[in-house]
Order: sequence, then C-alpha cells, then structure tokens
Amino acid sequence: MNITDIEDWGLGLEKHLLIAGPCSAESPEQIDEISKGLKSSQVQLFRAGVWKPRTRPGSFEGKGEEALGWMEIARENLGVPITVEVANAEHVEQALKASVDVLWIGARTSVNPFSVQEISDALQGVDIPVMVKNPINPDLQLWLGAFERLNKAGIHKMAAIHRGFADPYEKRYRNKPEWSMPIHLKRTIPGLSVICDPSHIAGTREIIASISQRALNFGLDGLMIETHHDPDNALSDAKQQVTPDVLNIIYESLIFRDTMDEHPEAISELDKFRDNVDLLDSQLLELLAERFEIIKNIGEYKMEHNLAVYQPDRWQNVMESRIKAGMQKNLTEKFMKNLLFAIHEESVKKQEAQLKETRSKQSV
Ligand code: PEP
Ligand code: MN
Repeated sequence: MNITDIEDWGLGLEKHLLIAGPCSAESPEQIDEISKGLKSSQVQLFRAGVWKPRTRPGSFEGKGEEALGWMEIARENLGVPITVEVANAEHVEQALKASVDVLWIGARTSVNPFSVQEISDALQGVDIPVMVKNPINPDLQLWLGAFERLNKAGIHKMAAIHRGFADPYEKRYRNKPEWSMPIHLKRTIPGLSVICDPSHIAGTREIIASISQRALNFGLDGLMIETHHDPDNALSDAKQQVTPDVLNIIYESLIFRDTMDEHPEAISELDKFRDNVDLLDSQLLELLAERFEIIKNIGEYKMEHNLAVYQPDRWQNVMESRIKAGMQKNLTEKFMKNLLFAIHEESVKKQEAQLKETRSKQSV
C-alpha cells in the first residue's frame, strides 16, 4: 500500500499532530468561541462532527451541511485546516463541496464494509486525506480492510485513529484501548501514522492526560482531543470534552520522546545492553525447555499410575510460593500469575498430548 506521510499532505501538519475541536458543531457562536480559545494552543487540525452517529434517535444529530460553513470560518480564524466525519457518499459530496481539508471515518462506519466501500467509491479520483478510526470491535482485519478499500480508490494520504474498543465488561474506560493493535497496524502498513483519540477512550475528562501519555509511550503519532468552550453544556460527549485552557495544560504536561531514527548513535549504545538481554532470553528458554522435559517425566509417571493430569493441591502450592518469591524480587502479582498460568497451561497441554499419544498407540 502506498501511504503519504502526514507531513507531506500539503497542509502544514507536523510531527506530534494535535487535532482539537468539539465533538459536534452546535452553532456558529460555539464554533467561533472554541476556535478563538484554541488560538493559543498547539492545534494543527480543527475537528468537529457535523453529522453525528447517535446510538438512539432523539439525541443531537448534528447540524449537517450548514455547519460546514461554520467550519470554513473557523479555518480562516484559526489558520489551520479542518476535518469532519463522513459516514456515507452524500456526506463526502457535501464535505468536498465545502472544501473540507481532511475527512475521517468514525468507528460506527469503519465497522461496516458496505459503508467504507460507498465512501471509497465516492472518493474515486479525489486527492484528499482520510483518517480511519478503529472499528467498534477489536478486529484488525476490518480496520486493515478499510485502508485497502480506500487505497484501491486511489486514496494514499491516510492515517489511523485509535479510539478504543467497546467492551461490556470494561469499567475504567468508555472504550478500552488495545495498544498492541495500532502497533500491529503500523507494522502491517509501513508509513501509516496512528493518532490516539483519548477522549473516546476515556469517556471522562480526568483521565485524558494519562491516556495521551500512554499513547505517546507506545509510539503513536499524535492526539485528537475533543475540546469545547463549555464542556458541561455540550450537546454530545459532555463528560469527556475539555476547555482550550485544559487542553493546553494537558499538552504541556506531555513528554514527547524522540524516535530511534532521530538518534542513530543510540543504537550501538543500546546494543550493549541488548546483547545481555539476548543472552538471558536464551538462558530462560533453555531453562523452560528443561522444565518441560521434567514435566514429561512426571506425565509418564502419572500415566503409569493412572493419576489425573491436573493436581489442584500441588498447583495451589506452586502458585503461592512462586508468586511470593516473584514479589520479593519486585515482580508484580499480576505478572507472576500470568506467567505461571501460561507455563501451567502449556504443561497440562503437553501431558494431555502424551496421554492421547499413548492411548492411540495402545489402540493400534
Ligand atoms: C467522534 O469523534 O465524535 C466520534 C463520533 O467518534 P467515534 O467514531 O470514535 O465514536
Ligand atoms: Mn465525540
């Protein structure tokens, strides 16, 4: 897939892209107020939803086409390009007519290949950047598929937005982040930038700063933060929006680190440590392999004496003593549990396979 870097979109966008603006464009006064407030911020791209995908009818569904005019005024006032969400061909047509600079596809749309195809068809032959939010469910293939559909239609100025995934059991976040997903996406589509949308991950403004820092730590390329001059009275997503002043405080609190490409000299320095890590990893593997060999002997013994593979008392003992020992060495309880479960599961599987093999030999 041929991807044009954000910095080459011709819009003056730079590293550590900051996208800000309200969840929805509500009125000309609201857009005016917010864009004025953002003048002293680091915002590079101004966002607002003009067609809002609402879970149930009757909520504020956006002002549609007339709001595109307010966005054009904000672009002039603020001196930065503008972006809106599109969910079908008609939205694309109207956004293009209003010369919106960047389009984005929302999570409720990227989940539907028919909609993504419809948008791609409407964009055939148009040179406009498109950002694609992750689908509501954590399906990497679906997310990838959206980029492929757009790319086939000739769109190569693309970026992804990680806005978290719906999870009914999740309590802390509105949409659970899955940091391995953007990393995988970046590896699969080289050159693709991934922006984090901490607002829709958080659902409440208090944790936006910490999620933003997390995103940067995972090497994400920018942030999209919902910003409103009067968040509590916003017509959508009131709890998660921040004022332009708070946006500045959040942004100033963030630590941006350089990538390795910017410091080639660091590689040889780090290699000294990494050589040691490689050695320790190979020793760890040797030890694990040795452990599984012994497990095999135990398996044989259990078979000969017709004993159950899973021995709950022994397992309980192993868990307790190893977790305690691990914690004394500054390893967390959670890590120890995960590690022990993984080893135990593999051991049980190996013993089951042994049992199966012996049975099939006996039955021949
Ligand atoms: C939005 O950005 O306001 C929005 C609707 O987001 P999402 O598609 O991530 O739910
Ligand atoms: Mn929103």
